[in-house]
Amino acid sequence: MKQINYTKSIPVKKQYDIIVCGGGVAGVAAAVSAAKNGFSTLLLEKSNILGGLGTLGLINLFVPMCNGRGKQIIFGLAEKWLRLSATLGWDTIPDEWKDGEPKEPTSVRYTQRYSPSIFAYQLTEELTKSGADILFDCMAVDPIMEGNVCKGVITESKGGTAFYPCRVLIDTTGDCDILRRAGIPTVSGENFFTFITKMVTLDGCKRAIEANDIAKIYSNFGGGNINLYGTNQPSDVPRWSGLSAEEVTDYIVRNHLLILEKLKASARNTREIVTSPGMPQFRTTAHIKGDYSFKFTDAYCHFEDSVCAINDFENRDYLFEVPLRTLTRRDYPNIITAGRSADATGYGWDVLRVIPPAILTGQAAGEAACLAIKTNTAIADVDIKSLQAKLEKENVMIHFPDSYVPEDKEISVHGKNSAEIDGGHM
Ligand SMILES: Cc1cc2nc3c(=O)[nH]c(=O)nc-3n(C[C@H](O)[C@H](O)[C@H](O)COP(=O)(O)OP(=O)(O)OC[C@H]3O[C@@H](n4cnc5c(N)ncnc54)[C@H](O)[C@@H]3O)c2cc1C
Repeated sequence: MKQINYTKSIPVKKQYDIIVCGGGVAGVAAAVSAAKNGFSTLLLEKSNILGGLGTLGLINLFVPMCNGRGKQIIFGLAEKWLRLSATLGWDTIPDEWKDGEPKEPTSVRYTQRYSPSIFAYQLTEELTKSGADILFDCMAVDPIMEGNVCKGVITESKGGTAFYPCRVLIDTTGDCDILRRAGIPTVSGENFFTFITKMVTLDGCKRAIEANDIAKIYSNFGGGNINLYGTNQPSDVPRWSGLSAEEVTDYIVRNHLLILEKLKASARNTREIVTSPGMPQFRTTAHIKGDYSFKFTDAYCHFEDSVCAINDFENRDYLFEVPLRTLTRRDYPNIITAGRSADATGYGWDVLRVIPPAILTGQAAGEAACLAIKTNTAIADVDIKSLQAKLEKENVMIHFPDSYVPEDKEISVHGKNSAEIDGGHM
């Protein structure tokens, strides 16, 4: 490929202790946690709304945060924000969980479908209350590296190009954009033909009025409608990594045209698309090749460097712990990631990247960044007991209780064996 050299002088802006690149749920959790410890924190978000896929991307469901037997596993900021989202927007928390963990075992799972926009505004409030600074409409572009140490990040916004120095950088772009540009190895995934909008129909309006429940007004209306497992992915549609403008554009154009085609089959005065996803609904673009790769067959393992306990959102019983090493690279002392770019393989990536665990890894990354600065150590080398104690103080479950582990610990999902579950997309 032909290349040119392009140089220009750019302004050096305020120095921050911690810069968080990307304001999805993981990034907001990281920034809020860092700022609450009193460290100067800047969150950079390229869009105009916080929450990433969880709001802008219209993925408005806290997947189950329990073991499917009535025991809650996921706490911390995920629990706080699930509850917060139900205070002002839609409250779809099942009756069994309305007042916290049920007294009796239940197979009903602890989930919440929320209003994406209202939850996004609540995240803005959480962030501003924490004392973190935010720049919307501001893209983190390139980390400036001295060897493997990050000195700050170049940004691009209406005001032009600028440099923000920092002591620790947290990459929560979801796509590992900044890590990749820092030279850290990453692994890319494949994404299916999924594009879901929010539609309002006359039938939906009637449903909402009859139930006196505005949450019932919406229905999902899809272009590509392929599920997590890629079932029925059309053979003439590519699987995108999502890591180039060309791929993103191909995905968008195909979906817009397909939606128009589908709309032609219904009467125009009976329905309206009220919101389209403002970012590609790609599940697995890229993750860090970290110090440890989380996998589904880690179920029921305790890790010394666990930063949170999580559960499988789909299959009951399976319990996991997430090692700090899934977020770090020992050879890059002041960079960490969180959210859907944590290191994981196969179906393990699906379990780790969804909204509640993404919030918890974001929270862990924020706390780990603070501890690294406070103790003048590399993030991968922070005193793990101190980190765990801080997270526990913030209501995070670090180790799942052994009493929750079922007697039959055989690991099997959809009839697949361990190698298939850990090996790739199922
Ligand atoms: C189709 C689909 C269905 C799903 N269903 C569910 C579900 O039902 N429940 C569930 O819990 N999870 C679900 N998920 C997964 C979940 O939505 C995501 O994994 C999770 O929200 C990821 O959060 P994140 O903060 O890691 O990343 P993201 O949400 O991707 O956030 C990244 C943020 O960074 C910003 N950004 C990116 N690059 C830059 C840059 N260079 N500079 C500045 N900002 C940048 C983006 O604008 C965005 O705000 C689904 C995902 C998909 C795609």
